[in-house]
Amino acid sequence: MALTPRQIEELKGLTARRRDSLVAELRRDAGRARDESFGALAGTTHDLGDESVAALLADLDQSELSRDLEELRGLEAARARIADGSYGVCADCGAEIEFERQRAAPGALRCVACQTRHEKTFAGPGRASL
Ligand SMILES: [Zn+2]
Repeated sequence: MALTPRQIEELKGLTARRRDSLVAELRRDAGRARDESFGALAGTTHDLGDESVAALLADLDQSELSRDLEELRGLEAARARIADGSYGVCADCGAEIEFERQRAAPGALRCVACQTRHEKTFAGPGRASL
């Protein structure tokens, strides 16, 4: 069941809004990171404990940042697929992705079955690859 033009319009609005809020969030994070490193440079207390905490926070920030960036890339790719008419089709098996799934995850590239398989295949360490 292909997506109707109306559903595509809805998903288009959804990805645009989600992208805008992600961009705003990233801008905020970038501004905060700048402030924090400036604060650290200007700071007077410089013992090892503080630096470890600062490094930990920086790491945390970066993993959140890269998650956001990844989602942003996914949304940009989704918008490109909407524009060229290939949106809503599973990248692996070519089946239609249900509207409800696309609405819940506008950047989704695969149908549920293929995504599950993909995640199992590319699961983290500790899994034997047979
Ligand atoms: Zn599929």
